[in-house]
Amino acid sequence: MYKLAGREYKTESSVFEIAERKIGGENFSVIAGPCSVESESQILSIAESVKNSGAAFLRGGVFKPRTSPYDFEGLGLDGLEILKLARAKTGLPIVTEIVSEAHLDIFAEQVDIIQVGARNMQNFALLRQIGGLGKPVLLKRGLSSTIDELLMSAEYIMTGGAEQVILCERGIRTFEPSTRYTLDLSAVPVIREKSHLPVFVDPSHAAGYAHLVEPLALAAAACGADGLLIEVHNCPEDALCDGAQAITPEVFSSLMRRVERVREAVAYKE
Ligand code: PEP
Ligand code: MN
Repeated sequence: MYKLAGREYKTESSVFEIAERKIGGENFSVIAGPCSVESESQILSIAESVKNSGAAFLRGGVFKPRTSPYDFEGLGLDGLEILKLARAKTGLPIVTEIVSEAHLDIFAEQVDIIQVGARNMQNFALLRQIGGLGKPVLLKRGLSSTIDELLMSAEYIMTGGAEQVILCERGIRTFEPSTRYTLDLSAVPVIREKSHLPVFVDPSHAAGYAHLVEPLALAAAACGADGLLIEVHNCPEDALCDGAQAITPEVFSSLMRRVERVREAVAYKE
């Protein structure tokens, strides 16, 4: 059924090398940064601190899909220039979300991992075109999508020609209102059974509240995730997007140390 993403097609877990960093297999990687790029000083300060804490990639949105058309939609291509500057200063490869076919070429040229957000997980025409770029992709699970639908979307990207697709569980919509979404941690072992692709967890969007991010991150590490996507902001109360779920660089640093201890304790092996 999953001709390219399935375990039947490839029994060994995939290990990708992206910008000289390994993802999947025995490796655990953390992608961190603010929800959106807001200014040069904001990104440079966050990039330095997450790097010092052990993050492998810097992520910041420059095109933000917002529920309300009156909210901040990102700095656009000016934001991408700022991200590139942060990459040049810190050496951290950059991850950012694509929302339009108009930006395929520029993303192909300038971005290390192209993020497909939850809202575009089933934008099939976009998925095929992204696949055609042959670049690494971080594919987030749709707000109300099943695991099989997520894997089929990976299949769309891979039929286009790309091989390096990272899947990301980011919470699904349920009847529970205490959290922004419900983190479906069972997706991690279920995906591992069905697919050879690496699976990441984004506890930030699932939780919606900063104080819940760390416990969910630890649980994700314990159940075998290949990595995390964490929103970090130097001043969460002033963030232009998703401030309530952003953790500070200090909390991120302690989270990273505790995640490492969980990984040592569970010692997953292929
Ligand atoms: C994001 O990563 O900032 C984001 C918008 O996430 P999602 O697509 O999972 O809602
Ligand atoms: Mn966000």
